Amino acid sequence: PLTLNQIGKSFAGKTVLDSIDLDVEAGCFLTLLGPSGCGKTTLLRIIAGLEQPDSGTLYNEHRLLDDPKKNRHLAPQQRHFGFVFQDYGLWPHMNVAANVAFPLQMAKVSKQEIKNRVKQALTDVHMQDHADKRPTQLSGGQKQRISIARALVARPKLILFDEPLSNLDANLREELGHDIRRLAREQGLTCINVTHDRREAQLLSDKIVLLKDGRCHQQGTPEELFHTPIDAWAAKFLDAGN
Ligand code: ATP
Repeated sequence: PLTLNQIGKSFAGKTVLDSIDLDVEAGCFLTLLGPSGCGKTTLLRIIAGLEQPDSGTLYNEHRLLDDPKKNRHLAPQQRHFGFVFQDYGLWPHMNVAANVAFPLQMAKVSKQEIKNRVKQALTDVHMQDHADKRPTQLSGGQKQRISIARALVARPKLILFDEPLSNLDANLREELGHDIRRLAREQGLTCINVTHDRREAQLLSDKIVLLKDGRCHQQGTPEELFHTPIDAWAAKFLDAGN
């Protein structure tokens, strides 16, 4: 449902994104993968609406989100996407249930509906027994589960993940990675994930877009990329650490 046409972005005269074309199909888990500085976070921020492109157009389900030529830019809250950040972004003064309920309160959903939906979202991430705890009483993996519940509760069609597993140790990464995949499939979510971690990309994705110097270098399924990298640079990047 999401289409990017020729997205470009510069900071202080330095090109960070150069003519990016991208199609993200409904229900697809797509990862933007690449080394530090390749532009992946900037691209995710543009999709989120937190940053405006200098050129190009961005559509979601045929709705125009960005077009610098038409001076069109839809604010993040008008895009109705879910967000999951590397550092969780939970409010320390609220308990788990209140954190998850927050987006629904903003949307003026009824109390009973909020109660039901928060309970369901916490059950989805296996955190139903932690509703009354404060974020400080939770482990990193548990905090990230709450952050995922908060993204799910508003029932967005598209969820944006910014390195959701990178603060976790190897075991937790694997476990939460599998749960994210399961939830995305069960709920028919479209997901866009940013990471520099090849294993995370491999574990989570239906499709990977490998970025290099602000350009789309190669894209395909994890199997295609890892088995047939298009050149020596891609082979080296995808192989390192494996
Ligand atoms: P990392 O994995 O390190 O976060 P990245 O691939 O996500 O890297 P970006 O964060 O998108 O890369 O940054 C791409 C380039 O744009 C970098 O050179 C960065 O310094 C620059 N950049 C990003 N945001 C800004 C900004 N607001 N102002 C100036 N330069 C920026």
